[in-house]
Amino acid sequence: MQSFEDFKISTPLRNAIVDLGYEKPTPIQAKAFPVILSGKDMVGIAQTGTGKTFGYMLPILQMLPFSKELHPRVLVIVPTRELVLQVVEEIEKFGKYSSIRVIGVYGGTNINRQKEAVAEGADIIVATPGRLYDLVLSRALRLKTIKKLVIDEVDVMLDLGFRYQLTNIMDLLPERRQNIMFSATMTEDVNKMISAFFIAPTKVSVAVSGTPLENISQSCYAVPNFYTKINLLVDLLKDNELYNKVLVFVSNKKSADRVFDDLDEFYGSEICVIHSNKTQNYRIRSIRQFDEGDNRILVTTDVMARGLDLDRISHVVNFDTPLFPENYMHRIGRTGRAEEEGKSLLFYTSKEEEAKKAIETLMDIQIPELKMPKRIEIATKLTPEETPIIIERNNPHKQLADEERGASFHEKSEKNKKSNQGGSYKRIIEKKYKKRKTKGDKNYNKRNKRK
Ligand code: AMP
Repeated sequence: MQSFEDFKISTPLRNAIVDLGYEKPTPIQAKAFPVILSGKDMVGIAQTGTGKTFGYMLPILQMLPFSKELHPRVLVIVPTRELVLQVVEEIEKFGKYSSIRVIGVYGGTNINRQKEAVAEGADIIVATPGRLYDLVLSRALRLKTIKKLVIDEVDVMLDLGFRYQLTNIMDLLPERRQNIMFSATMTEDVNKMISAFFIAPTKVSVAVSGTPLENISQSCYAVPNFYTKINLLVDLLKDNELYNKVLVFVSNKKSADRVFDDLDEFYGSEICVIHSNKTQNYRIRSIRQFDEGDNRILVTTDVMARGLDLDRISHVVNFDTPLFPENYMHRIGRTGRAEEEGKSLLFYTSKEEEAKKAIETLMDIQIPELKMPKRIEIATKLTPEETPIIIERNNPHKQLADEERGASFHEKSEKNKKSNQGGSYKRIIEKKYKKRKTKGDKNYNKRNKRK
């Protein structure tokens, strides 16, 4: 879609666009508009700066009829107070010629004043999850009239630990509503949230803007396991002239700490880490040290890396293969900025091969494969996640899977054979009462008394 004219928008909105000076829709706006207008649930993968706020507000405002209803019909949830203020300000601009009532609520300020504002009535509420929940619990705000829910920057929200509040809020919303979600990165947590609350959502995604992939030379290594990946990375990083500013991506906090600890032994003074369990001060210090060149290597998760505006990254190392191919695009987009050639490496195990193929399909290229140098030691040590699960020998349902694993696995599992003794609760109760008793067996004591 090339022009706002194609959207057939109302005159008040058209006038607001003229005032804002927007000439044509951004890619996320062009893609999101018809989906949101259709009333379907939508998941947008887009970063800040892509015009996503207007991307969801334009169709929502287009569909929002004038009403004197006191209770809000649109709810926008964002992770921080700064974002509440920013989104409210933008909505006010978009709604300049319509009579839209918008209120922002966030924590850390007087709740009573916000209660008063809410009581006056609003069409749109923009909120952080914690304060929103407090307002609902104190009955100052009712959510039963919400028709459209927008959750923005959901990856950050979940990473900051707002899952509980979000889930509670979802339970208070009417079932018949449209869900719209934006996330810069896809994570397991975001995916779980989508499957729990969304109905067959349409996925709309845009690549990081201003990062032509031609600027980035990509390659990959097939590596058998985590600790061999460590060995390979340690080896590559020895060339500190070539690898002078390296961003190492991992998919979660646990891996970030593990990679950091393992590299620390070799590159202690040159390495730093950021993830959401680190304090704000620690994260700021790490980013500064990396940005100013005091530290050569930064280990980070996908979510924490966003919002970082880092220059002259020599290499992006994908220590693991992102499950969601869009994340790979975001990761490698951190290098190759401003006409410089950037380099990206991807380490993948046989388990991650599918995810690698999905990335290649999305980009429509094959990532050239490099042979792992012979000097790299193949690690035999495995992480707990990589260690094979021992199948119970006595379970007839699992027998087949066990046999499929072949002879060598058989021998090992025989040695470590475990028998199924039931849950620990059952065992404790059994010991106490000398007889099997289940939680639900209310008649057990009665029976025993009679004896
Ligand atoms: P956002 O990604 O929502 O944070 O938006 C980033 C910036 O892009 C904001 O300052 C918007 O005002 C601006 N913007 C949004 N849509 C357009 C457009 N169609 N043309 C030009 N600028 C836009």
